[in-house]
Amino acid sequence: MQFRDLKRQYEVLQKDIDVAMLEVARTGTYIMGSQVKKLEERLAKFVGVKHCVTCGNGTDALTLALKVWGIGRGDAVFVPDFTFFASAEAVALEGAVPVFVDVDKDTCNIDPVDLENNIEKTIKEGKYIPKVIIAVDLFGLPANYPVIRKIADKYSLLVLEDGAQGFGGAINDKRACSFGDISTTSFFPAKPLGCYGDGGAIFTDNDEWAKLADSYRVHGKGTFKYDNVRIGVNSRLDTLQAAILLVKLKAFEEKELAAVNNIAEKYTRLLKEKLKTPIVPEGFYSSWAQYTIQLENKAQRDSLQFKLKERGIPSMVYYPTGMHAQTAFANLTGQQNECPVASHLCDVVLSLPMHPYMTDDEIILIINSVADGIKEM
Ligand SMILES: *Cc1c(COP(=O)(O)O)cnc(C)c1O
Repeated sequence: MQFRDLKRQYEVLQKDIDVAMLEVARTGTYIMGSQVKKLEERLAKFVGVKHCVTCGNGTDALTLALKVWGIGRGDAVFVPDFTFFASAEAVALEGAVPVFVDVDKDTCNIDPVDLENNIEKTIKEGKYIPKVIIAVDLFGLPANYPVIRKIADKYSLLVLEDGAQGFGGAINDKRACSFGDISTTSFFPAKPLGCYGDGGAIFTDNDEWAKLADSYRVHGKGTFKYDNVRIGVNSRLDTLQAAILLVKLKAFEEKELAAVNNIAEKYTRLLKEKLKTPIVPEGFYSSWAQYTIQLENKAQRDSLQFKLKERGIPSMVYYPTGMHAQTAFANLTGQQNECPVASHLCDVVLSLPMHPYMTDDEIILIINSVADGIKEM
């Protein structure tokens, strides 16, 4: 059994994907071919924003957003402690200071109360100027944007939605990647909408920011590629990846999103009496980048993972270490927070296999194996 069976997805979509890939090979426009523009239009429409600018990967998408806003030395950016490293790495790479905020124990997303505490603390200390809140849609569930937006408005901060795992999610029919002043996503193969390599995108309603992002992704181009008006990067989405994504976006919209939600429902229905299953708040919709259960302690989690492995069922620990405890951030000059909820989650979370092409037999085997594993403890 695969944790996320991408080959099975390819077998289902093979005919269309092969045609799309060969067409790119034949036409020869490998960089910025017509598929890239077409994909950007489709993605913007799907998300419900004015502009989509694709780029090389989800980490670059965060970097481009921070560059567009001119975030750098002396600035504080608030980042959830429980996330993939890139959410905080992009901040440090631009020379700004990531301030780690604890998360909610039910949703695993940034905790608005701790967020406001940290903003106040940063203002009081006066060492760094609060500029941006990065909210991550962890495991596919949108962060609490209605409350985050109120906090951002109160302190005049920008919201950057890291939707690398959240693409396809929603809050009351408003789709993920539309909640930030700029939002980003990743098309890394294992993300909800993945390509066959690296890819990413930024989303915004702001005309000027979209234009700036387009410039930054091509060496800070002005009116054309060899007119360079600012220091940028080289971060474009390959035409080949765009062609693949055009096929995959259709399947994602037509059936895959519904399929993962069906599987999550089954998991939750049959496991919720036995352990802590993921909580999706009223009005929220997840794209289930991960289905993550919580055990009681680290020993129980590690033991269950081992028992699942014995039965041939892969599982993953996303994530074993909070940002504040990462070696790379050991010498951070900003305030250091302990983030107890995030630290606890690192010990007790376990992500089960999740992808739209799982069979009923596989789902039942996983549920029974988890139940058996728990019973023996
Ligand atoms: C995967 C991921 C990224 C980075 O995306 P890449 O395409 O791998 O660079 C950023 N943030 C989060 C939350 C992610 O899960």
